[in-house]
Amino acid sequence: MIDPFGRKINYLRLSVTDRCDLRCVYCMAEDMTFLPKAEVLSLEELERLAGAFIRLGTTKLRLTGGEPLVRRGILDLIGDLGRDYLATSRLRELTLTTNGTQLAKSADALRAAGVKRINVSLDSLDAERFRRITRTGDLTQVLDGLRAAKEAGLKVKLNMVALKGINDDEIDHAVAWCGEQGFDLVLIETMPLGEVEDRLENYLPLTEVRRALSEKWTLEASPMTTGGPARYVRVAETGGMLGFITPLTHGFCEACNRVRVTCTGMLYLCLGQEDSADLRAPLRAGESDEALERAILEAMGRKPKGHDFIIDRDHQRPALSRHMSMTGG
Ligand code: SAM
Ligand code: SF4
Repeated sequence: MIDPFGRKINYLRLSVTDRCDLRCVYCMAEDMTFLPKAEVLSLEELERLAGAFIRLGTTKLRLTGGEPLVRRGILDLIGDLGRDYLATSRLRELTLTTNGTQLAKSADALRAAGVKRINVSLDSLDAERFRRITRTGDLTQVLDGLRAAKEAGLKVKLNMVALKGINDDEIDHAVAWCGEQGFDLVLIETMPLGEVEDRLENYLPLTEVRRALSEKWTLEASPMTTGGPARYVRVAETGGMLGFITPLTHGFCEACNRVRVTCTGMLYLCLGQEDSADLRAPLRAGESDEALERAILEAMGRKPKGHDFIIDRDHQRPALSRHMSMTGG
C-alpha cells in the first residue's frame, strides 16, 4: 500500500478493546463509559481484518487498546495470528503495547505465538506514584509481569510518558534501571488527545529532558529507526537504547509508515487527524473480504501528509477529542 505522498504503509496498529484495568490520568477519565460489546469487533472480525491488511502488504502488526491483555480470548487470537502469518513469514513482526498488569500469566503464551518483543508502559517505579498516575494500579503486578517477560525471552521496550511535576525527577533513575534490566526505554511527550486533567501543567518538552540527561550520560547517536516518531540514542554507560517520542516539538510525518484501526473497526489514517474509514460495515456486510480490502485501499488514498498537534496557552482544548485508548497508542 503506497499513500499519495509515496510512503509505503506496512505497519498496522490494531486496537482490540477500549477497556482497561488502569485509568492513567493522561489517557482516561476517572469514570469511563466503555463501548457496548456489539460495537466492538469480535475476535473473528479482528482476525479477518488483520488478514486483509496482511494480504495488502502489512508486515508489522501491533495490538494495542485499551489494554489488549484484558480482552477475553486475546491469547487465542495472538496464537492464531502467529501460526497463520508469522510462521508462514507473511508477517515480519507481531507485537503489542501493554500496561504489563497481565503479563505474568501471558508472557509464555506470547513467546510461544512468535511474539519476540513487546512495549510495556510504566511511568513510575515508585508504588505510590504509580498508583496516582494510573489511579488504580499495583506496581508489583507490573514488575512481576516484566520479570515474566524477561524469563520468557521477550525483548522489552519500556514506554514512559514524561510528566512535569509528576515523574520528571525519576527519568534519570529509569535510564539506569532499564540499563540494568536489559530493557530499552522510550520517553513520550504527552499528546493532546481527549479531555483529561492538567495537560498543560504536566507537559514536559523532551528537548529539556534530553539536555539534562546528556549532562550525566553519554548519549551516542544511533541510526536505529522504526519508521516511527521515536528518535534513538545509545546510552554508552548501560548499552541500552533510549528513544524520544516528541510529536509536539518535531515533525516526524515524512517517514510515516503506519495506520491505526480502533476496536470498532474505524481506520484512522493519522493519529493527529480525524479522517477515517469505517471497516466494520464491510466486515459485517458478508463473508467475502473483497469490500473490506476495497475500503482499505480507498482510505489509503486519503492518508494526510501530517498532523496538527499543538499544546499552548492559546490552545487549551485538545487538538482531538478522542482518547488515546480509542485509537490505541
Ligand atoms: N494499555 C496499553 C498501555 O498502556 O501500554 C496500550 C494502550 S496505551 C493507550 C498506549 C500508549 O499510549 C501508552 O504507552 C500510554 O502511555 C500512551 N498514551 C496514552 N495517552 C497518551 C497521551 N495523551 N499522550 C502520550 N501518550 C499517551
Ligand atoms: Fe490503560 Fe494504557 Fe490508557 Fe493507561 S495508557 S489507561 S494502561 S490504555
